[in-house]
Amino acid sequence: MARVVVTGGAGFLGSHLCDRLLERGDEVVCLDNLVTGRTANIEHLFAHPGFTFVEQDVSNFMWVPGPVDAIMHLASPASPIDFARIPIQILKVGSLGTHNCLGLARAKGAKFHLNSTSEVYGDPLVHPQPETYWGNVNPIGPRSMYDEAKRFGEAMTMAYHRAHDIDIRIVRTFNTYGPRMAPDDGRVVSNFIVQALKGEALTVYGDGSQSRSFCYVDDQIAGQLALLDSDYQQPVNIGNPHEFTMLELAETVLAATNSNSKLEFLPLPKDDPTQRKPDLTVANRELGWEPKIQLAEGIEKAITYFAAELGR
Ligand code: UDP
Repeated sequence: MARVVVTGGAGFLGSHLCDRLLERGDEVVCLDNLVTGRTANIEHLFAHPGFTFVEQDVSNFMWVPGPVDAIMHLASPASPIDFARIPIQILKVGSLGTHNCLGLARAKGAKFHLNSTSEVYGDPLVHPQPETYWGNVNPIGPRSMYDEAKRFGEAMTMAYHRAHDIDIRIVRTFNTYGPRMAPDDGRVVSNFIVQALKGEALTVYGDGSQSRSFCYVDDQIAGQLALLDSDYQQPVNIGNPHEFTMLELAETVLAATNSNSKLEFLPLPKDDPTQRKPDLTVANRELGWEPKIQLAEGIEKAITYFAAELGR
């Protein structure tokens, strides 16, 4: 049993993590400033005796009273829509927020777990991407606030590990989807499902030949907890290695929703990565973890969730 601080705990990934931690008997202190997180994601936990929620922006100095065994830093807006809307907040939570969480970890003698991203590989020239790949990132482009903040966060985490012997974990999360994504999140899985359910055209950016590898949220959280519980102090990719083009994803969503929606082709955003697929050798070897839920199954669960959200 541990007492775990989860930053971004009211967000899509963070709220699922809070659920799993509480289920296994851990105590959770959930911090979120609710900029993209939603209380709807955690309200079922408010009565749980092991759960505390604090509305807190971790980019500012923060303090958590009492013992802390681990800090899991997931707080960050993560959608390309947010990249244009709140770029400075994204840079702050990835840099100052990571620094504050590491300071708290040091003061408490706690483990620090950073939720980093496959975006550290930018528009990758190596495919699939192993953790040893240094990436191809535009430092001043329209995605730079997210990519560079996460890269800075990884550098800061390793610096605290080397300088202060902090026990660290770094997960590089690949495109994850599932229940509790905001319907207007702006990412491709939520956009396509919501559009298909409403009978609207599916907005394909570019010619739809770019690829992503989509991980169902339960697999993602299981991988993150396997890393937390391990003693591996280097970055680990967590995702699903099955790669799909956006046209293939559109076909999958149309079939699963039984929708007649057409495709609408829109301009490809600048610096949109052309391909992405995790090399999971390290996760398999160090954690004995691999994803179990494939796209066809996960999409069904996501459709059930979005259909309920739209009906609300
Ligand atoms: N995309 C799309 N239509 C949409 C939203 C996104 O074709 O309505 C594309 C986007 O250009 C990218 C891919 O889907 O190539 C994944 O986008 P998402 O924002 O979900 O994730 P990320 O680009 O951050 O991996």
